[in-house]
Amino acid sequence: MPDHDYDLFVIGAGSGGTRASRVAAAHGARVAVAEEYRVGGTCVIRGCVPKKLLVYGAHFAEDLKDAKRFGWDVPDQCDFSWPTLRDNVLAEVDRINGAYTQTLETHGVEIIPQRATVTGPNTVRLADGTTRTAGRILIAVGAHPAVPECPGHELGITSNEAFHLDAIPKRVLIAGAGYIANEFAGIFHQFGAHVIIMNRTKDILRGYDLAIRDRLLQISMMKGLEFRFDAAFQGIEKDPHGCLTVSMSGHEPVTVDLVMFATGRAPNTSGLGLAEAGVELDDKGAVKVDEHNRSTCSSIFAVGDVTNRIQLTPIAIREGQAFADREFGGKDTVIDYANVPSAVFSHPPLAGVGMTESEAKQKLGSIRVYSSDFRPMKNVLANRDERALYKMVCDGETGRIVGLHMIGPDVPEILQAAAIAVKAGLTKEQFDDTVALHPTMAEELVLMR
Ligand SMILES: Cc1cc2nc3c(=O)[nH]c(=O)nc-3n(C[C@H](O)[C@H](O)[C@H](O)COP(=O)(O)OP(=O)(O)OC[C@H]3O[C@@H](n4cnc5c(N)ncnc54)[C@H](O)[C@@H]3O)c2cc1C
Repeated sequence: MPDHDYDLFVIGAGSGGTRASRVAAAHGARVAVAEEYRVGGTCVIRGCVPKKLLVYGAHFAEDLKDAKRFGWDVPDQCDFSWPTLRDNVLAEVDRINGAYTQTLETHGVEIIPQRATVTGPNTVRLADGTTRTAGRILIAVGAHPAVPECPGHELGITSNEAFHLDAIPKRVLIAGAGYIANEFAGIFHQFGAHVIIMNRTKDILRGYDLAIRDRLLQISMMKGLEFRFDAAFQGIEKDPHGCLTVSMSGHEPVTVDLVMFATGRAPNTSGLGLAEAGVELDDKGAVKVDEHNRSTCSSIFAVGDVTNRIQLTPIAIREGQAFADREFGGKDTVIDYANVPSAVFSHPPLAGVGMTESEAKQKLGSIRVYSSDFRPMKNVLANRDERALYKMVCDGETGRIVGLHMIGPDVPEILQAAAIAVKAGLTKEQFDDTVALHPTMAEELVLMR
């Protein structure tokens, strides 16, 4: 092997890139990682972590209201300081960013705080114009919010900017109906904004079970969120007071104070020089890889969102780990993408693993479906008219659970444990053999009919 500057050059210090860098270095490789923004990547800096902290903050709006029914003397109108929450969240982000940086440094990874592009199978160019060579290059550059082309689109923001707002707007229009749209809809609503979700189709949260999505839609509408379905952007205009009027097909225009695009995320491959190095991209710009994350150029690999398979942090981390173990630790691991659990931290949250009812019907033919539709005890005392729904989809022949879908308080926490059983191939009978833990919401999992 020719003598390169490094054994591994990683582009992007996000979830996948930091894991791969650290593990490769621990296996003895000489590693450098280039990061053009901040170590930690989307998840830490402007994704999962700050988003979840805002979700916690938003939940207090309901908790404070409910507290009165539990005997607490809470004023009818509680003040909320967005700058306090925002600054505390950003300080926590700084802390984790520091911890990630330190971990890489203590493992001997060289952090290069610059943009890097690929110039050949073993070479990269840095923003300062210098070049580096490496035995292997790992593309872990993630994705960015895709914004629809329409007149005035530059007047809107994306989730990137949402964490830094000066104030919570009174009226917000969120474009898109995926998990980021629904999560921010809940956050803005709980902080007192009037929220309108606008979507190109009639669906929210495609990929999740229909009954669960319908329940979220129904609860969201009950709370006062508005929806505009089958609506395509025609344009956004700003008036002298800073208000934004959004024109859309099929509906009257709406005037709001903030437009947020949550209309999908596209791989960060533009201008990265990949084609020149023989790395093929798909029609969405994602790097094409094999089961070992190797691209069509044998020395260049890719992990995480840039491959546009399952855009979730634990997947990027797993792919980074498997790549480093295989290429530098002699350990051959192939990732199993079946039964990956996921959640939407909406208000209330929902979560799912495995096949939806309609997928299972299509794939298996014979299925059995069990469900529990109940009002959690805490909601009953709080006079909160929100029902939880748990649904179990089983193979009609074997009884094996092939899908579990839930909406209600704390379901992401409950589903993580239940997903182990689904992944292990357990049956409904085995769930029912387990004695209920009473009184909990999770006990519904072993009491379904
Ligand atoms: C608002 C939001 C909420 C989310 N919530 C969740 C959640 O609850 N759960 C979950 O599992 N996932 C969530 N995600 C998705 C998750 O953040 C991503 O799947 C994950 O971060 C992908 O990791 P990655 O390593 O592929 O890329 P990233 O973490 O995006 O890291 C890529 C890094 O590469 C850097 N970079 C890009 N180009 C270059 C270049 N040319 N040179 C140098 N550096 C470069 C970027 O600055 C970035 O730091 C969320 C995402 C968003 C936007």
